[in-house]
Amino acid sequence: MAIRRILRDDHPVLRQKTAEVIKINSGVTRLLDDMRETMRDADGVGLAANQVGVSKRILIAADGEETIYELINPCCEVSEGNEVGVEGCLSVPGKHGEVPRSTRIVVAAVNREGRKIRLTAEGLLARILQHEMDHLDGILFIDKALNLHETEEIKSED
Ligand code: ZN
Repeated sequence: MAIRRILRDDHPVLRQKTAEVIKINSGVTRLLDDMRETMRDADGVGLAANQVGVSKRILIAADGEETIYELINPCCEVSEGNEVGVEGCLSVPGKHGEVPRSTRIVVAAVNREGRKIRLTAEGLLARILQHEMDHLDGILFIDKALNLHETEEIKSED
C-alpha cells in the first residue's frame, strides 16, 4: 500500500466527470488499498479516486472506526429528506461550511470482488457518500455550501 498525493481544489482533474470502471483489475484493487491508506493518513472520512488523480468512479467512505465501504460505479437510487450539516474536504483544506444533503439514501454499486451491492445510509454516512459521489461528477462541497468558514489549523507534528 502507498499513500498517494491528494489533489487540491484548483486542480482540473477534480472538475472532470469520472469514467465508469469497466473491469476490476489489480490496478483497481491496488488503488482501493492506497485510497484507504491515504484517507487514514489524512484523517479523512471519505475519498474519491479523482482526489488522488485517478478519474474513475470509485470512492471509499468510513462508517465509524472499523468499517470502510468501497464503492465502484456508485449510483444513488433513493434519496429522501433534507438536512443541513457541516462539511470539509481533504481537497479544500482550511475551509468548512454548511451543506444541504438528503438524510437517507440508497446507493447501488459494485464491490472489489465485482459483486453488486446495495447500501442504505443515513446521517453522517449518507452525507459522506453524497459528498464523494459529487466528487465523481466534478462537484466540490464549496459549490453547494450555504456558507464557508476558515478552519483553524490544528496541525499535529509527527
Ligand atoms: Zn471532498
